[in-house]
This record gives sequence, C-alpha cells and structure tokens, in this order.
Amino acid sequence: MTSRSPPSVTSKRLFCEISPSSVSPDMSKRVQRSESHEDHESSLDTSNANYCDLVSEASTYLSKINDLVNDQGSRINIANKSAIMDMTQRITAIVSLLAIKSSCNETKLVNTQRELDLLKTNPASESRVKQTKSYADKLKLRLPQAVPPVQSRAPLPCVVAYPTEERSADYVTSSATKQALMTAIKPSDDGFQIVGVKKVKKSGVILRVANESQIKKLKSVEAIKSAGLRLEKPKGRQPRILVKDVPASMEDKTFLTALYRQNIKDELKVTEDDFIKNTRVIRRRMVNHGRKWIGIEIDSAIRQHLVATKEKLFIDWAPCRFVDDLELVRCNQCQEYGHVRKYCTHKTPTCANCAGAHETTDCLEKDKPEFKPVCVACKRYKKPCDHRTGSQDCPTYKIKLEQLVLSTNY
Ligand SMILES: [Zn+2]
Ligand SMILES: [Zn+2]
Ligand SMILES: [Zn+2]
Repeated sequence: MTSRSPPSVTSKRLFCEISPSSVSPDMSKRVQRSESHEDHESSLDTSNANYCDLVSEASTYLSKINDLVNDQGSRINIANKSAIMDMTQRITAIVSLLAIKSSCNETKLVNTQRELDLLKTNPASESRVKQTKSYADKLKLRLPQAVPPVQSRAPLPCVVAYPTEERSADYVTSSATKQALMTAIKPSDDGFQIVGVKKVKKSGVILRVANESQIKKLKSVEAIKSAGLRLEKPKGRQPRILVKDVPASMEDKTFLTALYRQNIKDELKVTEDDFIKNTRVIRRRMVNHGRKWIGIEIDSAIRQHLVATKEKLFIDWAPCRFVDDLELVRCNQCQEYGHVRKYCTHKTPTCANCAGAHETTDCLEKDKPEFKPVCVACKRYKKPCDHRTGSQDCPTYKIKLEQLVLSTNY
C-alpha cells in the first residue's frame, strides 16, 4: 500500500459549532461500528448486521482486493492496477452512501409504524388526524399540490486552477489567481457555464461548471496557460476519523506518534515522517473522565487498513474507539453548510429556530406556545422547512451529507 500526498484542495477545517455529542443516536449508529463485533470473517448475514458492520465488511474485502493487486507476484499492469484501486475506492464510497440511505428509510419506516400504532390504539386520534387532513387538503388548493421530491445530486464537475511553478511568485494569494482567471475566461463571449468560483489553499481557485464538456472546454483555453495557470482535477476530500477515549493530557504530536508506532508501523509500508506529514489533527473535544476525542484527517489507504483490521486503536495504554467523522460545518450567521461565520458573505444573521433576521441566541419566537420551527437552509432551497435548521431529518442536511460522502476519497 502506498501513501498518497494530502489533497491540495480541501475545505476550511475549523472546529464546528455542532459538537460531536449532538450527533443523534441514530447518526452515531450509522457511523459507529458495533461494539460487539465478534466474528468479522463470518459470511454475510444481513438480517441482524447493522449498516456499519456491512460497510466495514465491504471495506475489508475491498482492502483485500487492493492487497492482491499490489502483491509483488501480481502480473497486473500499472494502468489496470490504478484503475482497480480507483474503482475499489468508489465502491467504498457508494457502500457508505447506501448505508446512510437505508438508515434514513428505516427511520421513516419506524415513524410511520408509530403513527399507525397510535391510530390503532386510539381511535379518537383518528378523527383528529382526518380532520387535520381535510383542513390541510383545503389549504392545498391554494398551495402547490405536492412538495417536490427531495433528490440528491452528485456534486457538479469542477477543476482547480493553480499557478505553474515558474509563475508562482506572481500569484501569492488565491485572490490573484481568481483575478487572472476572470481576465482569461470570458463566459459571455465563449459560452461558459460557471456555477461557482471558490478560493482554496496554495493560491488555488476551484471552478465548478455545469457539465463535463465544460471542463474540456476550459482546458482548451490558451489564455489560462499563457497567464501561467494550470488546471487540475481536484483530489477530493481526505477521509476523517474521530478517535475517542484518548487521555486528555496527551499532546497532538505524542498522539500521532503513538497512533503510528502502535497501529501502523509494523503493518503498512509508510514511514513515520510521511505519516506525521500527511495526517492532520483537525479538532479536539474534551469529554468526561480525563479523556478527549481527536478528529484527524488521514490518508485513505491508512484509514482502510485501520477500519479493516482494528476494532479499537492502541494509543499508549488506552484502547481507543474510532469512527468515521462525517461532520458537516454550518455557519451560525447565515446557517448555510460548508463554511463558518468567519468566512460568511452575508451581512446580517438569520435565526436557526425561526429563520427570522436575528441571532439564534436572541430568538424570542422559540419560547412562544404557538412556535413552529422554520429551517433556513430548506426555505432557501424551497424544500419542506417545518423543522429547526441543522435537524438530522432536514432534507438539505441529508443532501449535504451525501455530497460529503461522495466527495471523500474513502
Ligand atoms: Zn454564512
Ligand atoms: Zn428566531
Ligand atoms: Zn432543513
């Protein structure tokens, strides 16, 4: 297994407002692998395995395929080898996604069952529900007949522009790169369909476009090359894991060294220097009993190995639980996903409870008896918004979560 360099394109990593403990039990079940994971090698029994066991089992097999492909004696050529590695990575992402979807459906089923049971045991509530329904039906006459179905979308194609090595002195910031791109590309003259422009690290700028053919078209623009910029396929987000039960007093460096020497050193061909260089501590959270959680960004091959071979990670004397870290960053000013307040482009706050134009902490609506939550994000995207922003049942949240999984190199 080889170690890959960290991605040059990554979103801002900042400690998120949503604390890990706010992850609902349903969510943690989804991400966490079962504690009583007894027989890893057993044949697939889908009847009582949870999603995470299934995902972890699939990862094991995929990682075995990678091992076979990388076996010294293997006669597969390099192109096929990298194609297989690429495909196994995609399959892992798809399996994780399916697990999330199944889990959502299961929740829906349980809720429907509960409603049904309520109707059966309490006939009085039936008439009430019927009444509400007819009232809602009347209302619908003036409202759109059906709520548009929530559809998940794969992220649109994108490229990232970086200064070439020779011209790197001319582009010290990503703003300079953006300026040069905007001079080199004339969407209205050349028929470009640019969906989004985003500045990233290392003086990079991501251009998101409407479809794949736009990428080809962009790559053929001579003015971009002559401006000293090159276009690359973004490498995708590196996987993140959350290591729990770490002794609270342990320093980051000591933690990473222990993680390497006790869990990786004798098992993978990765040097300690490379591991330390390619692994980043993203967040820390103190918990009770002198322990803390550490969130790290880690090479995907190393993550695969740890998930496939370890129930817990060995950190000094502590066996530590670990889970995939699927945390979405949300801005507490505008309530959009994908950035934090420091980088918010909105001038005024929006409330996460009622979508009003005030800070969430100053909300007077939420204490009123007739209060009904309004989700800002869903309201913006014209989706059903009768829930609090950031709720685990929020359609926008689910779509963003799917996009996060799809854009990660698992
Ligand atoms: Zn914002
Ligand atoms: Zn409010
Ligand atoms: Zn919502």
